Amino acid sequence: GADAQNLDLLRSSLKLCPNFPKKGITFIDVFGVFANPKAHRALIDLILSRLKKLGTTIDAVVGLEARGFIFGPQIALELQVPFVPVRKLGKLPGKVAKIDYDLEYGKDTMEIQTQVLKPGTKILLVDDLLATGGTLGAAQKLCVDLGCEVVETLVIIELLGLNGRKKLTDVNHFTTLLQFS
Ligand code: AMP
Repeated sequence: GADAQNLDLLRSSLKLCPNFPKKGITFIDVFGVFANPKAHRALIDLILSRLKKLGTTIDAVVGLEARGFIFGPQIALELQVPFVPVRKLGKLPGKVAKIDYDLEYGKDTMEIQTQVLKPGTKILLVDDLLATGGTLGAAQKLCVDLGCEVVETLVIIELLGLNGRKKLTDVNHFTTLLQFS
């Protein structure tokens, strides 16, 4: 069907870059998808199809810096709900909530503007890729701390070897389009 065809196109549009940004890491470059309008369309259609099948009520899309900013707003527009960005410390003006989280080496802080996300807001959380899950796990906690419910978390790519799913504790449902071992 259309979903299977879209998935094939999506998979073949990803660029796998061995030893980037350092030796031993295979970087999966999602910009390959956006370089091809047919693959771009396939991605958006696939996400909308998955969400429709799930039938979950979504009040807002929350996207992570930076690649969650590319397709998150497109999904929000299609669903006719607000898009809300999560950014690194010090980038967002006004009232923000923040959370510290662990990176592979060291720590970082992410922030979200609290204005749109009233308690009870049902959130779809999006990013391009799940690796260790540290980033998405922290973003989830940030949303839950605001009294919101993360009803759905969606990434395009899941790296299975790192067990990132284990970090996603406050999630009702998790969708990945493509998995890599
Ligand atoms: P993590 O917190 O470990 O799940 O890392 C997630 C973030 O790092 C995602 O937003 C990805 O954009 C980026 N990332 C981690 N590993 C890779 C990889 N192998 N290829 C592309 N992006 C990656």
